[in-house]
Amino acid sequence: MTNHTSQVVVDLDKCIGCWACAHVCQAGLITFADDGRQRTLRFVRICGEDCTRCAEVCPEEAITLTPATETALAGEYLTATFDLLRCRRCDAPFTTERIINKLLAVIPQEFQNDAAELSWVRLCPDCRRVTEGEKVAQEWIMSRWPGDGLA
Ligand code: SF4
Ligand code: SF4
Repeated sequence: MTNHTSQVVVDLDKCIGCWACAHVCQAGLITFADDGRQRTLRFVRICGEDCTRCAEVCPEEAITLTPATETALAGEYLTATFDLLRCRRCDAPFTTERIINKLLAVIPQEFQNDAAELSWVRLCPDCRRVTEGEKVAQEWIMSRWPGDGLA
């Protein structure tokens, strides 16, 4: 029988706290929890599953699976915590600073001085939808009744 035991090595300098790895780990060996103030990720140190999902899904290549040589790590977990940022509109905690920085970094250069574009990044998903809906409604109202607007 093949031994699939791997050491799950996580580079916390690269991790942005996106929890994609926890989402794909069907064995529940990587977990995440938001408590309203912080996001906590817990990574198993030794994995015995025939699986490479966490390493494959990580957008930052922060996870490496290597043959397990350090059996002392069995049953241990690595924990990482990230402060949660709050939506600038509704104040709900929704993401990590590192995720925001990653989004800001991929905004094209021509929009890097566009305050509206940059502030959109600091809205939670619900408020982005609401804001987008308001924008469409505002444009529609202005096209029909120029000079009018949403209250
Ligand atoms: S290798 Fe698979 S089972 Fe093991 S921690 Fe990663 S996602 Fe979970
Ligand atoms: S997928 Fe990668 S960047 Fe995202 S939480 Fe897991 S280790 Fe961190």
